[in-house]
Formats: sequence, structure tokens, C-alpha cells
Amino acid sequence: MIHILENIDKWSCEYKKCGAKCCAAGIQLTVADIKRIKALGYEIEDFLVFDETNQVFKIKEKDGKCFFLGSKLECTIRENEPIVCRLLPFKIMEVSYSDEPIMRLKPVVDCPGEGRGKKIDKKKIEADASTFIRENQKLIRDMKRKGMKGIKDEL
Ligand code: SF4
Repeated sequence: MIHILENIDKWSCEYKKCGAKCCAAGIQLTVADIKRIKALGYEIEDFLVFDETNQVFKIKEKDGKCFFLGSKLECTIRENEPIVCRLLPFKIMEVSYSDEPIMRLKPVVDCPGEGRGKKIDKKKIEADASTFIRENQKLIRDMKRKGMKGIKDEL
């Protein structure tokens, strides 16, 4: 179940105005995200870290921002960006992986692009959010079954 806690009707990414605020360090990745980025020619150890506390994969930090943020504040992997980035202008507030998984999304605070640009496709946001949940449910199951080493070997 995906809950969008506050609605936004229109949005355009004004990354130059906010200094690419959303492209902060620690963006969470699914295994499918990792494989897609790797297929672009990146080495896993260049961009990936494992957060032991939360048991999730994340993008490495570069100068306090996302590893893939370019010098002009552009996303250098735009066509292959992680699912979390596709959810913008919504951020994940909470996810629970019970029998009936729940994700709560909220708009990015103080976003200069809010109310501008294209109409937000809520169906697409919900579809991407569901994909994120499904992929992470699989990761949680695989971690129990294969352990971290087994997962890393398959990346
Ligand atoms: S992957 Fe691209 S869109 Fe996502 S946080 Fe990094 S630079 Fe920004």
C-alpha cells in the first residue's frame, strides 16, 4: 500500500536553484538499480556502500553529495537513475515490510519546483514505489537465505 501523505499537482526539477538538494549522500539502491548502474561500466566498489546498521545498499558519497552528481549539478546517470530518484518530488518517510507492506511518501520540503512544470503522474510514482518495495522484500529474503556474501557474489 502506497500512501502519498501530501499531494503536489505539478513539479519540475529546478536543481540549479536548490543546488541539487535531493542528490545528497546515502541514496538507497535496490539490487536491480545496482545491476543497471554496473552495466553502464562502473565498478561496484566505486559507487556502492553497504549500510550495516540499516542493512541496505547505498550510493557512495562524493564531496558530501551523491557520487553520480556531475560538476554542473546534473545527474550523470539520468536514464538509469535509481528508483528512489524516480520517486521525486516525493521522499520516502517510512516503509514497513509486513505481510501487507506500506510505504509513506511526502513531498520534498521547500522545493523550488513545486507547483511548476508537468503534472505529476501519480500512477507512475505508485508503480515505482511498488517496485522499490518488491525489490527490497526480495533483498531481505535473499539476505536471510544467502547472506551478504552470497548477494555480493551475484552483483
Ligand atoms: S543518482 Fe542522480 S538523481 Fe539520484 S541522487 Fe544521484 S545524482 Fe541525483
